Amino acid sequence: MAEQTSSRPFYRRQPGGELYCGGVSLEPVAKRFGTPLYVYSADQIAERLGMFQRALAGLDHLVCYAVKANSALAILKLLAKRGAGFDIVSGGELERVLAAAPEAAGRVVFSGVGKTIAEIDAGLKAGILAFNVESEAELALLAARARKLGIRARFALRVNPDVFADTHPYISTGMREHKFGIDIKRARMIYKHAAGDRWLEAHGVSVHIGSQIRSADPFGAAIERVSKLVTQLKGDGIALKAIDAGGGLGIDYHDGSFDAAAKVEEYAEALIRALGDFEGQLQIEPGRFLVGQAGALVARVLYVKRNGNKTFVITDAAMNDLIRPALYQAHHEIVSVRPRTGKACVVDVVGPVCESGDFFARDRKLPPLEPGDLVALLDAGAYGMAQSSNYNSRLRAAEVLVEGAKARLIRRRETIGDLLATEQL
Ligand SMILES: *Cc1c(COP(=O)(O)O)cnc(C)c1O
Repeated sequence: MAEQTSSRPFYRRQPGGELYCGGVSLEPVAKRFGTPLYVYSADQIAERLGMFQRALAGLDHLVCYAVKANSALAILKLLAKRGAGFDIVSGGELERVLAAAPEAAGRVVFSGVGKTIAEIDAGLKAGILAFNVESEAELALLAARARKLGIRARFALRVNPDVFADTHPYISTGMREHKFGIDIKRARMIYKHAAGDRWLEAHGVSVHIGSQIRSADPFGAAIERVSKLVTQLKGDGIALKAIDAGGGLGIDYHDGSFDAAAKVEEYAEALIRALGDFEGQLQIEPGRFLVGQAGALVARVLYVKRNGNKTFVITDAAMNDLIRPALYQAHHEIVSVRPRTGKACVVDVVGPVCESGDFFARDRKLPPLEPGDLVALLDAGAYGMAQSSNYNSRLRAAEVLVEGAKARLIRRRETIGDLLATEQL
């Protein structure tokens, strides 16, 4: 892989030198805060948000960051300060937004197939922008709660456009056989029916076809279908104010020379073309693209061991810290923080968890590694810490945010006290 890259904030000042994030060397940061440690670049997150905002500057738009990708309060705050809204999928995520940036409540859209009464009530009371409703039963419940609380509910139907997106099956969501959304063919009838309810306001229509989608084409195809529906509804006297194109724009986990700005422009063009003459607001819900490449998981090598003809590099980070390789067979580049010279070897990089699925890389050619060395797993800013767990009763990692030449702890490492706090004998 390229050592100094435009798509990642992690780089070396000279070939073979130590790894930096922005203006901060990772070695002292790892010593100070311990490992495993998530390190994020605030500057890159802000830069990525700016790419979307610039690409959509010609039209009314709102970038709603998908909180589930990385829900760190400090990251939510920095995005809110720069005008982002939020896409949430639970009451817990709503509380995070309210804690980090209460002024952004009116820029929140609430997605998810299984909203509870308590979650709907919390969203109504917070005055969120819209509920992305995923079934007729949910719409009926939303209307009932709105009536009960005396708060009118803005909604968008999340339609299922039946568009194929080439990605991992676990994160493809836009086809009829998936649990998400409402069949686009039924949507018109549901909007017409809802028009008779004074507690419901048809705010928009939303789609989300999946995650880690590298091509702009399926996004355009989905919005074309949505635009047709919007035109039909206009004819029915229902004027929607917003089209929410969802998230899902993918990054390149292999090649560090990936041109993020060009990708965003291509994506925005596909959406804008498909919107036709729609004059309302375009909402998008990027998660991974905003934070994925901004983060690395820094781990220390505990042991190097040989079993037969295989070499295992055992790190102090494990699948409970970063589950993507185990769950999605995902690839993460692994680099030494201070590379040693010598012959590269083919190794498996694994964690200490008692599962054969606990690996970060298999048969990977890496420069020599020895116990005590630091490695960085790149592109770990999205769906890393957010999907971490206490499996094997391991304490969850700390998180550090780098702003310019400063590194700041934004989440302390868990303690044994945290681990045992909710239990009783
Ligand atoms: C997960 C999700 C997103 C974000 O997806 P990314 O691939 O991280 O951009 C956006 N909207 C909805 C409804 C989601 O479920």
